[in-house]
Amino acid sequence: MSAPTVTDDVTLSAECTLAQQPAYKDVHRGCHQTKDVPLPHSNGILLVRRCGCTCHRRGDAS
Ligand SMILES: [Zn+2]
Ligand SMILES: [Zn+2]
Repeated sequence: MSAPTVTDDVTLSAECTLAQQPAYKDVHRGCHQTKDVPLPHSNGILLVRRCGCTCHRRGDAS
């Protein structure tokens, strides 16, 4: 079910998944999924995982 080009354990948003294709690279800009969104009233369950696309990694030294 996952795209064969996407690596390991990285979660990508729908936008960045699409933008893996050269013809759609501008779609990276449409992704705003830069942080984890927890499910309300749950402990530690994430509703949305942060997008792990490299396009969001600017100067994040962690
Ligand atoms: Zn991206
Ligand atoms: Zn993204």
